[in-house]
Amino acid sequence: MLNFKDADQSLWQHTAIKLPKPEKLTGAIKADVTVIGAGFTGLRTALELAQKGVNVIVLDSHEPGWGASGRSGGQVNPLAHAQPNEIIDQLGDVFGPRMLENYIHSADEVFDLIDKHDLQCDSVRKGWLRGAHCKSAKSELEKMAKNWSEAGLGIDSIEGEQLHKLTGSTAYSFATLVKSGGSLHPLSYTRELARVAMEKGAKIYSDSKVSNINRKGDNWQLTTDTATIESEWVVFCTNGYTDDTLKGLKQTVIPLISVQGATRELTDEEYAQVLPEGHTISDTRRVIYYGRRDNRNRILFGSLGSSELCEGSDRDRIHNAFKTVFPQFKPSDIEFYWGGRIAHTKDFLPHLHEPAPGILAGLGCNGRGVAMSTVMGRILS
Ligand SMILES: Cc1cc2nc3c(=O)[nH]c(=O)nc-3n(C[C@H](O)[C@H](O)[C@H](O)COP(=O)(O)OP(=O)(O)OC[C@H]3O[C@@H](n4cnc5c(N)ncnc54)[C@H](O)[C@@H]3O)c2cc1C
Repeated sequence: MLNFKDADQSLWQHTAIKLPKPEKLTGAIKADVTVIGAGFTGLRTALELAQKGVNVIVLDSHEPGWGASGRSGGQVNPLAHAQPNEIIDQLGDVFGPRMLENYIHSADEVFDLIDKHDLQCDSVRKGWLRGAHCKSAKSELEKMAKNWSEAGLGIDSIEGEQLHKLTGSTAYSFATLVKSGGSLHPLSYTRELARVAMEKGAKIYSDSKVSNINRKGDNWQLTTDTATIESEWVVFCTNGYTDDTLKGLKQTVIPLISVQGATRELTDEEYAQVLPEGHTISDTRRVIYYGRRDNRNRILFGSLGSSELCEGSDRDRIHNAFKTVFPQFKPSDIEFYWGGRIAHTKDFLPHLHEPAPGILAGLGCNGRGVAMSTVMGRILS
């Protein structure tokens, strides 16, 4: 059962720039394109369409950023889970190279978009460290670094003392550094995308859960509890929150829960010990550990969990993970806990569907959606 409290309890809710909550849609309305879901994917889609003068509306069950986008770790991580040659083998010579290009330039795309529209979202671009948690993971990371660097994504290797200095931790003795990576405030980024999309002419509605979609002549008719919408195109951007509105879409992804915590405001001395140059960090564990600083003296640390409320064993998991990597902190140093849904796919690649003429869906960024959903929105538009 989804609960508004899930989204409300994150650190980001307390530190994000404000966006007046868009109103609920009522009555009958027509649009060229209706986007369902106001996260990174849906809002980027709407922004691009609005800039082209398309009459686009966005409907969200709750409000912009309520889903994973507003709760994310905000790490801009431009890398697939697979090796480049595996992606080419899987997608072939036309779509394979396109997928690689999109991954390679995905972080650039996010930071260029931020610059272009002057999005106020605390963006920092110092690179993404990915630590090897065991020997075999080290050789896997070395292969990734070599093959993706050859494909055009700059990845360095960092070891020993130098890595300990960059992380403030001795938990890893080998990591890759994806230089184009960085971080941002994910709820501010989402709200800024919404603000700019609206300035360009997109209309966004909150508390407008789409429950039905049916053909009406050449168009599609959508219904919410208080409105009907007629539209030539419908774009589903519902990711880990995909429901049964569009038959079969939910079954294309595996929703997983990601959970994280954020510390109290640390003293300058404590804060300076962790990721002192502003890198983000994640690791090679199957049940991943990931962390970063915000720019208000807090450290964020997360893993996978079992409930969006992030209680009980989910908190224990965060404490254990945090203690493994940064043993200088205690569970009582963590002030905020929250979780949300990410969408995995069986092949670990993002999916773009065209299930019927006039309907598109883009989802499944496998936990690395800050960069890739931003790209997905442009492609969908
Ligand atoms: C705790 C956490 C940490 C994460 N950390 C990172 C990270 O550091 N780096 C990274 O790259 N990725 C991270 N991710 C993943 C990333 O946040 C997602 O990939 C990305 O936000 C997906 O964006 P989206 O717009 O596709 O979906 P979402 O932001 O989930 O938006 C989907 C929206 O669809 C709406 N919706 C669903 N059904 C309907 C309906 N029927 N009618 C109307 N609206 C509907 C929902 O209300 C929701 O707002 C994290 C995710 C979580 C949960």
